[in-house]
Amino acid sequence: MTVRCTSCGITISGEAYTSFPCPENGNEEIVRCKECRKQSNKYKCPECGFLGP
Ligand SMILES: [Zn+2]
Ligand SMILES: [Zn+2]
Repeated sequence: MTVRCTSCGITISGEAYTSFPCPENGNEEIVRCKECRKQSNKYKCPECGFLGP
């Protein structure tokens, strides 16, 4: 199973990552790789356009 980081778009396979539902609409799953988490990179919900964190 592979997932894609919502922030930088890299494919994450088996590495540490975080995923959580969009804070805005709760539907879309936001995925952040460990690098983006470390650097607090912004993410954008592909569904509603919510910008976080
Ligand atoms: Zn990333
Ligand atoms: Zn959303």
